[in-house]
Amino acid sequence: MHTKCPSVLLIYTGGTIGMIENPETGALENFNFDHLLRYVPELKRFNYRINTYPFDPPIDSSDMKPALWAKIVKIITYNYDNYDGFVILHGTDTMSFTASALSFMLENLTKPVILTGSQLPIGMLRTDGKENLITAIEIAAAKHPDGKPLVPEVCIFFESHLMRGNRTTKINAENFNAFRSYNYPSLACAGIHIKYEPHFIRRPDYSRPMKPHYLFNSNVVILTLFPGIHEEIVHALLNVPGLKAVVLKTYGSGNALQKEWFIREIKEAIYRGIVIVNITQCSSGTVQMERYETGMQLLQAGVISGYDSTPECAITKLMFLLGHGLTNQEIRYKINSSLAGEITKE
Ligand code: ASP
Repeated sequence: MHTKCPSVLLIYTGGTIGMIENPETGALENFNFDHLLRYVPELKRFNYRINTYPFDPPIDSSDMKPALWAKIVKIITYNYDNYDGFVILHGTDTMSFTASALSFMLENLTKPVILTGSQLPIGMLRTDGKENLITAIEIAAAKHPDGKPLVPEVCIFFESHLMRGNRTTKINAENFNAFRSYNYPSLACAGIHIKYEPHFIRRPDYSRPMKPHYLFNSNVVILTLFPGIHEEIVHALLNVPGLKAVVLKTYGSGNALQKEWFIREIKEAIYRGIVIVNITQCSSGTVQMERYETGMQLLQAGVISGYDSTPECAITKLMFLLGHGLTNQEIRYKINSSLAGEITKE
């Protein structure tokens, strides 16, 4: 049995959760994280060692970028042996991108990395921030009786649900219930008790060390199809100098228009070495290009299936793989493999 007091490192990157309302002007301002306990005194009731690492300055998550993902990974790596788990406070707008990126960057992760945030600042009366923060900390510290963490994964905890980070999407700009994992079940649900779902949680190899990665290549784009899309625009986009990969958001189970020009543009782009990954515009479900003729033509042109990837996951996975200088053959193989539980292959 482990008797040592649980320890959690709280990394505050920015976002609504770390704000309070200025009583005089009513404007939202970042609060000083050194005074976290003043705003969330409930944290004292955990008998945990909780240290904080605030970004200075804190950033709105619209400004998140690979260099800042690398900064988060460096902080986690540097502190890896000193904490049981990590909680990352992050703006909700791009939280799913960061969670996806981190899931690839932290190879063989053996500790919990829980992202959370809030729709209302922690200093406001009806805030969802306290609940999210307190439960995220509890999950980050939770262990099996043998001392192994309950959730050694990159997750998002939001409004009662613990979700695999690279399966999530922000779906609501208004409600507290802002995230969904459409293609993978929740890893835990917080009610009176936190009910974990062990069979859905990844099991890392504890005999191997966690391996951090830092490199990304952002020469990528997401192209969403719509009825009436113009040949000139598709042509211009696929011929942008330096373009390396495209996430193609198709219809239904991976279908695209059957126009001759469209397939020609796709084939020529692939011939020039551009990687094209097919994901569906539907929130739920998977790509099956062999199902209809309209998908089959993409498969035959050399388009790769992104299976049931979210757009956030597909684009960050491509950026990650390209950043590591893999050949197109290797990228194709890795897109077809689950690196961090991000796709389901039937
Ligand atoms: N714009 C904010 C951000 O994503 C919204 C939030 O914190 O939820 O940083």
